[in-house]
Amino acid sequence: MGKSAFLTRKAIASTIKSKGLQKLRWYCQMCQKQCRDENGFKCHCMSESHQRQLLLASENPQQFMDYFSEKFRNDFLELLRRRFGTKRVHNNIVYNEYISCREHIHMNATQWETLTDFTKWLGREGLCKVDETPKGWYIQYIDRDPETIRWQLELEKKKKQVLDDEEKTARFIEEQVRRGLEGKEQEAPIFKELSRENDEEKVTFNLNKGACSSKKWITNTKKPKKKIQDLE
Ligand SMILES: [Zn+2]
Repeated sequence: MGKSAFLTRKAIASTIKSKGLQKLRWYCQMCQKQCRDENGFKCHCMSESHQRQLLLASENPQQFMDYFSEKFRNDFLELLRRRFGTKRVHNNIVYNEYISCREHIHMNATQWETLTDFTKWLGREGLCKVDETPKGWYIQYIDRDPETIRWQLELEKKKKQVLDDEEKTARFIEEQVRRGLEGKEQEAPIFKELSRENDEEKVTFNLNKGACSSKKWITNTKKPKKKIQDLE
């Protein structure tokens, strides 16, 4: 095989294929480079960087498969986390979204034969909760981000604090009611006199307890003196 034959697209494509890498139209999976057209792809395949990659791939196909597997896994999980959070979702929905990205890694460039294989692997590795149904496999992202875990703990603590406070308040009110009832049995109502300088002046006073705590009661009576019951 002469040098020119080695550099043809067909020859390169078959080399990539034999190493288990996917050939896409005008896309170099190995370099992850998208070319505009056939001419662009030819130019890319002639480039030094591509040739270097090709040499590495043929020397160590396992290393390349590991690389693509890792990238596929990371991209897939990142998409799952970003789009669905920790919601349970059908693996096909995530996969279809993943492959709609132009520069996605094709499954056959990875260590997994099928999406089901990959899904089971995610479950085995503890990266996702997976479960099989008559409709297929479902996956659920497990969030292990230290920031999220810290935030969740903080939230739990706050919830507990609120519950503790509510309990304290309830106990306090209970105590007040109990004291109030005890007090009422002993205390007789107290009457107080309010006096005014002149007849036109208004007498205002607040009821500081119960539902009317902030309401101002205004009386405007002609009587110079008035007896009211002190509700305090
Ligand atoms: Zn390339």
